[in-house]
Amino acid sequence: MAQIEAHLASEQPLAGRHVCITAGPTYEALDPVRFLGNRSSGKMGIALAEGARARGAEVTLILGPTHLRPVDPGVKVVSVRTAQEMLEAAREPFAASQLAIFAAAVSDYRPKREAPQKRKKDGQVFQLELQENPDILATLAGTKKPGQFVIGFALETENLEASAWEKLRKKNCDALIANPLDEVKRGFEHDTNEGLLLTADGQSRPLKLKTKQALAHEIYDTLLDGSYI
Ligand code: C5P
Repeated sequence: MAQIEAHLASEQPLAGRHVCITAGPTYEALDPVRFLGNRSSGKMGIALAEGARARGAEVTLILGPTHLRPVDPGVKVVSVRTAQEMLEAAREPFAASQLAIFAAAVSDYRPKREAPQKRKKDGQVFQLELQENPDILATLAGTKKPGQFVIGFALETENLEASAWEKLRKKNCDALIANPLDEVKRGFEHDTNEGLLLTADGQSRPLKLKTKQALAHEIYDTLLDGSYI
């Protein structure tokens, strides 16, 4: 009996822990029909949510606009549209979490004004004023308490590892997953991904090309095996 219980416990290493995950893009409205956004599908964050559930965690997924949803009904999904909504929705689940993963592709800017009606063209140059959005990861990781582990993501088109180390430190992360943007098989919209897993103790581990589900399992297994989480 004790053996069976020990076996079950080892299969549910995140049992009793709260995990907060951001995923997907954000859409920033220009007028009632147009927005600024990006091509993120939310697949990596959804895979991470399911990977944490499979290990027994209570999972809250703050999900930007995407038609994808986790298959596991046990994942609590909070749907948001804008970066500001994502930050507000993440505050409580972050504060209650022992592990937080920021996989969302947040729009860095939003239009300064949202036009109340659909904008019509007038033959003139249209100059759009943008203002910076809050950095959700940096804001929340800045309030991190002992016992909380924060993972960031960095999608880079150049100087992958150097930029990723800088981001890890600047945004107060305990670990960071860096991935290159590749039109064929990695990153946005794709089912597969690869990159590097950096930890704040200075270690860098390669994450070889695999499905986002397999990658999520590898990330949890590596962090659990190394007693990071
Ligand atoms: O866009 P950037 O490369 O700086 O994103 C790095 C990390 O910061 C990602 O984990 C992303 O989810 C997070 N981020 C955020 N809020 C922003 C911009 C980025 O949480 N406004």
